[in-house]
Amino acid sequence: MTDNPSALDDVPNRPKLKDCVRRMAHALERTSDAPWIDAQRLAGLATGMTTAQLIAHGERQLDIATHDQLKGLLARRAAGEPLAYILGNAGFWRYELSISTAVLIPRPETETLVELALEHLPHDAALRVADLGTGSGAIAVTLAAERPAWHITATDIEPSAIAIARTNADRYELRNIAFRVGDWLAAIDQEYFDAIVANPPYVAEDDPHLADPGLAAEPRRALVAADHGWADLKLIADQAPAALNAGGLLMLEHGLSQGPYLQSALEAAGFESIETLKDASGHPRVTRGYLTNLRRARCPRFGRMDSAS
Ligand code: GLN
Repeated sequence: MTDNPSALDDVPNRPKLKDCVRRMAHALERTSDAPWIDAQRLAGLATGMTTAQLIAHGERQLDIATHDQLKGLLARRAAGEPLAYILGNAGFWRYELSISTAVLIPRPETETLVELALEHLPHDAALRVADLGTGSGAIAVTLAAERPAWHITATDIEPSAIAIARTNADRYELRNIAFRVGDWLAAIDQEYFDAIVANPPYVAEDDPHLADPGLAAEPRRALVAADHGWADLKLIADQAPAALNAGGLLMLEHGLSQGPYLQSALEAAGFESIETLKDASGHPRVTRGYLTNLRRARCPRFGRMDSAS
């Protein structure tokens, strides 16, 4: 077992495809949870072949240029660069999304948020749904694609993230997403929603996992929040009532221990039927509440007294 990035160096000049893939998989055993998949995807990137083609043509000899390219890709992955950034692509729900280091790599736990939103909201109504801090657009694109009747507004403070999210909306020819650049609710001043969802940064500044090469490659601003990871969750909970219609839903992804705190924050902000729900790994991951009584008059930022009740 080795994580030597030059594992391909001692392969004969015209190596067979299957030997390259095998050597790469061995070289990635310590870096990756799925070294064979990584090796196949990197070989696919260099050769333009699907995994099925790689297997079918395993005896084919690589040309030197492709072999050199594979060495470079292997070195990046062995140094801890996430596969998704190397490929420029990540799977989420049943979609393939373009990504770059401007955005977080979409995560399976965020599919829980999507699943709950799809389950809990009426399917065929012309709902207005905001996805705050959309990043790659994973949440917004999935909701828009799965629920063509809904109107999605996706925001992000980073124009470079909005550019990626737009690419992903275009990739699936979605016409029911609008994009806004801005900081949380400030991006959507004077618009009102039936639901607001978000996967904000919630990792504490001193979380030791941030040193992992994979996490270190991701945009810190999308991961880390001030006040031990609470700041953005709290801000969204406080601001959301001003942008929700009566009966509106707020649903936020959060870290494993943040549920009770977020429940209190939602309660203080006037939400009801508050509940923390588990992700597929059984971890408390998403907290939601409904805004039964509008209290917009108490939120000067939006200042629409006429629609307060
Ligand atoms: N779930 C992510 C992680 O722990 C964090 C995502 C986020 O901060 N929104 O890596």
